[in-house]
Amino acid sequence: MNKDKIWLSSPHMGGTEQKFVNEAFATNWVAPLGPNVTGLEQDLEHYLKQDSNVAALSSGTAAIHLGLILLGVKAGDEVICQSMTFSASANPILYLGATPVFIDSETSTWNLCPVALEAAIVDRIEKGKKPKAIIGVHLYGVPYQVDAVHAVAKKYDIPVLEDSAEALGSSYKGQKCGTFGDFGVLSFNGNKIITTSGGGALVCKNAEDKAKAVFFATQSRDTAPHYQHSEIGYNYRMSNICAGIGRGQMEVLDQHVQKRREMQQFYTALFKEIEGVTVFTVPNDDYFANYWLSSIVVDSSLTNGKTREDLRIYLESKNIESRPLWKPMHLQPIFEKYPYYGTYISEGLFNNGLCLPSGSNLTDEDRNRIQTEIQAFFNS
Ligand SMILES: *Cc1c(COP(=O)(O)O)cnc(C)c1O
Repeated sequence: MNKDKIWLSSPHMGGTEQKFVNEAFATNWVAPLGPNVTGLEQDLEHYLKQDSNVAALSSGTAAIHLGLILLGVKAGDEVICQSMTFSASANPILYLGATPVFIDSETSTWNLCPVALEAAIVDRIEKGKKPKAIIGVHLYGVPYQVDAVHAVAKKYDIPVLEDSAEALGSSYKGQKCGTFGDFGVLSFNGNKIITTSGGGALVCKNAEDKAKAVFFATQSRDTAPHYQHSEIGYNYRMSNICAGIGRGQMEVLDQHVQKRREMQQFYTALFKEIEGVTVFTVPNDDYFANYWLSSIVVDSSLTNGKTREDLRIYLESKNIESRPLWKPMHLQPIFEKYPYYGTYISEGLFNNGLCLPSGSNLTDEDRNRIQTEIQAFFNS
């Protein structure tokens, strides 16, 4: 009766992770530096290509924070940020005493709308302040409109911080996500496509930027025999133990991407039979998504009034986890007082969208259960 819980996205070990962790113990590299940290950085650099320089950090949030610092964001500056995202995209703007300016999504990728983006930049400049940076997000592993967004950024000469926390393994026109921005951000939290239990990385364009990121992440120690500091420091470096998990996970990253894509195909086939439900899909072949989370939008005018919330509660009663899409930042109590540019696209997505179980470790049995329950819900 009380069947095992089916999770939205849970950690999925490949098998070799403990070998790297044991090596760390055997050699006493139980510290926030060591061969696994260096090894994971190299693995990521080879994976991402584009001459990336990767700094392994304690979280994706830390990577966003350091990325903004490296872009020179200071108190009083304005930073543009996609509204529909996880709060970690925007919180570091407030850490720095800067002001977030939120932008609506467009309907094809659910990410930064290039039209609203340009309107916002023009208006902020008119009001007297040119935004210092743009934070774009590849939501659920679907790349944002890279060419269009970066064309606007280039036109106004504003750097882009690419929040690729959900999009390791995704690409646009054959180039890996995380390598488009002036800085790219990855996350290895427990629910992401690969995990280090907790961790992240900053993808830099050159070795100097990476060195500066590592400097800030290790308490900004100047060269001196004693502890000497001329800049604010942070304790943001990744542990060599966590990095060991990451090295094992890198061996199965492409398999995880494949499995998540199969989950999205599973839902596409399932909802083909159900009127009023659309599965989130890339707009065209330029986009390759890891489909970190498979998501749907429910149009209750076509489902006899059944809403995404009805579905969520029904699945919960069957011990199947699902979750509404990210609530846009401009609707969050902590962020609602800041400027927002757009219409109601992200709001509509939030009101009608749902993320479904998407893990790379789901079994045929899990899929059968999900299919049976979803069909039962819509046929009742
Ligand atoms: C997970 C996530 C982050 C934060 O990463 P952590 O490693 O959890 O700090 C940032 N942005 C987005 C879009 C995320 O999904």
